[in-house]
Amino acid sequence: MRKRRGLIMATAGVCIALLLPSGVTAGATAQRAPGETTTVKQDIYDITAATTELRGSVAATGVDVFSVHGRRMTVSATPEQAKLLRDKGFELKHQGDLQQELAKLTPGRDVTTNDFPAGYKGYHNYAEMTAELRKAESDFPNIAKVSSIGKSHEGREIWAIKISDNVGTDENEPEVLFNCNIHAREHLTVEMCLRIVKRFTTGYATDPAIKKVVDSRVIWVVPSVNPDGAEYDIATGQFRSWRKNRQTQSTDINRNFGYKWGCCGGSSGSSGSETYRGPSAFSAPETQRVRDFVNSRVVGGKQRITANIDFHTYSELVLWPFGYTKDDTAPGLNADEQKTFSTLGRQMAQTNGYTPQQGSDLYVTDGDITDWLWGQHKIWTYTFEMYPSEGGVGGFYPKDTVIERETARNDKAVDLLLSYADCVPRVIGKTC
Ligand SMILES: [Zn+2]
Repeated sequence: MRKRRGLIMATAGVCIALLLPSGVTAGATAQRAPGETTTVKQDIYDITAATTELRGSVAATGVDVFSVHGRRMTVSATPEQAKLLRDKGFELKHQGDLQQELAKLTPGRDVTTNDFPAGYKGYHNYAEMTAELRKAESDFPNIAKVSSIGKSHEGREIWAIKISDNVGTDENEPEVLFNCNIHAREHLTVEMCLRIVKRFTTGYATDPAIKKVVDSRVIWVVPSVNPDGAEYDIATGQFRSWRKNRQTQSTDINRNFGYKWGCCGGSSGSSGSETYRGPSAFSAPETQRVRDFVNSRVVGGKQRITANIDFHTYSELVLWPFGYTKDDTAPGLNADEQKTFSTLGRQMAQTNGYTPQQGSDLYVTDGDITDWLWGQHKIWTYTFEMYPSEGGVGGFYPKDTVIERETARNDKAVDLLLSYADCVPRVIGKTC
């Protein structure tokens, strides 16, 4: 578990982990209010923090953690936060001004676009993503069905697509949920979810392995949990490094879930922070939509969804619960369950070259989706932090030329999870 730790936190990314916990008040990164385009000055720094505790101490200042790689954290901090860090004794190595670094990513900025800029046209914005789902449904009506799990804060539909044989029938098959883009700037994850949709629809007629999965499982894909944030991030022709949703007190959806919400210093009570947990559990509309959808899959007293991957960027990690405690086991997570999580997590990581570890090995987080899916519903759930393994703010914005390679990189892990969905503990020789 602690192997490389790279995590990132990055923004969103690691999202899971990353970002700062705690209620830091201080500097909360003065985040941009909705509709506001100017931002408080932030600078990117590398900081050496060799232990979980030290990383937690960095995060607790309210900085935006971009990544954790080995002992090095890369963060974005306001002048106030930078002072807090120096007062704590950390040495800050300046890597650049955040706005300048963002500007470098899009030198040909076109403010009229409301779309991905040059070099990123292969990414799907909300309208293109919606069209892609509709096309899958119309091309493969027997195995693909689009529905909405409800609206975002700004009124966008949060789409889900169901892929299974007899898709119009509620068959009693193991269900697996893949969800993406809880964090706005993690656009590569939308492409990851769309790849899953494409692979299990277009491959059905010709690939016996795909057919076997689709005939025996129900695959749910939610390609964008946070469409408001994703659209906001690309609205001006220059990326905004936006992570949270678009409520007035913008909330980190991945700190807003109701299992051990705000319990343990793994989120912030300050609305300016990138890891603001919200005023109460499930206060964000997007969190409510996911909660209600997952709750709706309890049929006859039994949760049909057995497994999940929540995709983020970046750091190249496979993470499992719990995030709220550093302990390997806890109430509701016994030794056999821990062994199941870690065994399958390591097997998946062998297929994609990511680093497998418990989420809290990065640092403690609370209120994330995976703690809730396991703690509340006993769904075998993993956070994947995708490409790249390290970097600054550009780590959230790899060019579209990497989409094919970096999403295909997870095909085998996705297949492995689906193969065990009938009985995940089978991976350690247990029966269900
Ligand atoms: Zn994330």
